[in-house]
Amino acid sequence: MKKLFVKTYGCQMNAYDSAKMADLLAPLGYAATDAPDGADMVILNTCHIREKAAEKVYSELGRLRTLKAEKARSGGRMVLAVAGCVAQAEGEEIVARQPAVDLVVGPQSYHRLPEMIARAAREQGHALETDFPALEKFDSLPEPSGTSISAFLTVQEGCDKFCTFCVVPYTRGSEQSRPPQAILREARQLADKGAREIVLLGQNVNAYNGEDWSLARLCDAIAQIEGIRRIRYTTSHPRDMGDDLIAAHGKNPKLMPYLHLPVQSGSDAVLEAMNRQHSHDDYRRLVDRIRQARPDIALTSDFIVGFPGESDADFEATLQLVGDIGYATAFSFKYSKRPGTPASTMRKQIPEDVKTARLDALQKLLLKQQYAFDDSQIGKVLPVLFEKSARDKGQIMGRTPYLQPVHVHADSALIGQVADVRIERRTANSLHGVLA
Ligand code: SAM
Ligand code: SF4
Repeated sequence: MKKLFVKTYGCQMNAYDSAKMADLLAPLGYAATDAPDGADMVILNTCHIREKAAEKVYSELGRLRTLKAEKARSGGRMVLAVAGCVAQAEGEEIVARQPAVDLVVGPQSYHRLPEMIARAAREQGHALETDFPALEKFDSLPEPSGTSISAFLTVQEGCDKFCTFCVVPYTRGSEQSRPPQAILREARQLADKGAREIVLLGQNVNAYNGEDWSLARLCDAIAQIEGIRRIRYTTSHPRDMGDDLIAAHGKNPKLMPYLHLPVQSGSDAVLEAMNRQHSHDDYRRLVDRIRQARPDIALTSDFIVGFPGESDADFEATLQLVGDIGYATAFSFKYSKRPGTPASTMRKQIPEDVKTARLDALQKLLLKQQYAFDDSQIGKVLPVLFEKSARDKGQIMGRTPYLQPVHVHADSALIGQVADVRIERRTANSLHGVLA
């Protein structure tokens, strides 16, 4: 057996792709290992969304070059591959900056890894694939070899929205939806292997329109699959939140009351400059409609602070929106200049210290809301889907419908099942309870 080490950066779609790459290389004799030392192949599955994420890849490559040289001294060969969005965005530049890299493969081309490995070995050179062959990739991927209780399933890729700060339309290409029957087949395979929750993934998952099916219809069909207890989807764009999807949150009992619906900013001037194509008021009205369909829904969002031109008043509007909506949890980032995007050349870039202060203030408010939301569950009995053993002996870990982690002293036979848990207390990152 050859040893394969895959390191994943960034979003859940990358996590899905990494698992697929491992499945793809298994027939070539590669088995996953959890450290790069001595590995025969190392894949860095990279993220280009913010500058820091992209830079981490180069420092990691520096460390790997040393390991590769050590392996060569002992007569072996380590194939070094860069996959994901940095590969797509920087292509040959990666090899120029770090010649130890053998393969560069974009997110739409990794199904060609086996032939690329052969090519690089034959020619003792570098192989590069960064085409956008649309949906060809999915047709070439093998069945999932295993699964966790909660399994990712990519249904849609790419984006046509062109928010002015974002690289995704350039690195992942235009919006493409997989055919529903291929998705249902994969969901059935995952259920057969033990998945009890399916998390549908897409850069704009609610823009899903494979063969004119909507995401709501897809969720209804997945709900019919034996063994599947829960369905989630992420990430949604406010503009693609269709009436039937909103209604599905009230009608489909397997669709969990949790929605990641990024707003980015509470200021109309900033939303306009970001090309989000909705106002803060559109977003508020949308949230009202969603809460009418499913009053207990937990909402989460992404925020960017320090977008070019963001004034103190603009930032205050974001705090105001957060205060009014009330989030269960959320991600927030400092604006990061991405080469080639319109915002990177906008005037009035915001100084770093202002961005830091704003991020700090926003994160304090969001954390307060998160704790308040978590505390509001104390004393309640919630259905928890158990996913795995916890670090503490005798404890297992699961999630509430609102995606909160819960730790319970219980038999590991409950893993894969939904059981009622009385929530007793909260620690910084988890709820704790007893079987009810
Ligand atoms: N499609 C989703 C949407 O529009 O809400 C978001 C997908 S993006 C991969 C995830 C998040 O990264 C965005 O919601 C945004 O908050 C953040 N992000 C993207 N580009 C960024 C940038 N240049 N600087 C800081 N954060 C960024
Ligand atoms: Fe990026 Fe999301 Fe905007 Fe598309 S909709 S450009 S993925 S932030």
